[in-house]
Amino acid sequence: MRVAIYPGSFDPVTYGHIDIIKRGANLFDKLIVAVLLNPAKRPLFSIQERIELLKEVTKDIPNVEVDYFDGLLVEYAKKVNASAIIKGLRMVSDFEYEFQMALVNKKLNPSVETIFLMTSAKYGYLSSSLVKEIAQFGGCLSEFVPDIVAERLMEKFKKS
Ligand code: ADP
Repeated sequence: MRVAIYPGSFDPVTYGHIDIIKRGANLFDKLIVAVLLNPAKRPLFSIQERIELLKEVTKDIPNVEVDYFDGLLVEYAKKVNASAIIKGLRMVSDFEYEFQMALVNKKLNPSVETIFLMTSAKYGYLSSSLVKEIAQFGGCLSEFVPDIVAERLMEKFKKS
């Protein structure tokens, strides 16, 4: 069975992520969406909230699982028997960092390939941080995230 992992912060999940998840799931027998535990990033949503939202928005894709990981991605890949890491690429600005990460991960574990999927044109500008900014100022989120994510975002900013 061919397993791939799609790592990220998903704070919160957007239509850009969901597009990559669907396309990645088509290429592999199983795609594990792996939420990175990184408290240094000061996420808006807790790890549990991010996992819950990811599970909800991917519930109709049978070969997608949601999990989280801590520490080295290649170690996590080994643990779950993944042969590939899926990454989405938007702007040129994503490239330099992702290129460096891919080379380092290859060095650490040569048996795991990093596969880049180009963003779909309509999501090329979309990021979690943009969505949080729009939510903060009460903008309409329906083009960027599923309704349940929009609701959770509005709750967050109502509280603060
Ligand atoms: P960000 O905070 O940059 O939105 P994440 O860490 O949650 O991102 O992203 C996880 C992965 O999803 C990364 O590989 C990122 O490049 C990719 N990604 C995020 N948004 C998009 C998008 N709109 N189109 C394609 N790939 C995306």
